[in-house]
Amino acid sequence: MERPIVEFGVGSDGDPVAILSCGHSQHVRHNPPFINRPWVTTAEGRSGMIGKALNCVRCDNFELPDHFVPYKRTAEFNEESVPAALRKDHSTKTGVWAKIRVTRGKLLYRVPVLGKETELSVDRLGIVLPEVLHNVEPLGAASFFVEFYKAPD
Ligand SMILES: [Zn+2]
Repeated sequence: MERPIVEFGVGSDGDPVAILSCGHSQHVRHNPPFINRPWVTTAEGRSGMIGKALNCVRCDNFELPDHFVPYKRTAEFNEESVPAALRKDHSTKTGVWAKIRVTRGKLLYRVPVLGKETELSVDRLGIVLPEVLHNVEPLGAASFFVEFYKAPD
């Protein structure tokens, strides 16, 4: 999915990377004649690319960025106490990922825009992508909580 560039950095290999709003980074090498991105070689060129979107395959694969840290969690909900807002389409803010952790029973996790529907259980957690609408529905008796992740300070 498309994610805007928020800043530029340097990868572990010393090559330039674009850091996207989701927290993932992508190499943006200038290596002519194979890869032509002369803009990456100047600060001015890079700043002109802030806000431009790149396709993020790691988001498509529901990969929570490795370096992200948990900072907040909800109470544990069950099939009776699950807030109505979670049953309807809702999303997290820019850069906020989450894990849906089921502690009992089964929970249906839907991401309509991606056509995904997953049955979560104690053994199978759900990954919530920043800004992507989703909803959940307990399948019978179930308990779960949501743990939020963001970039380290
Ligand atoms: Zn991403």
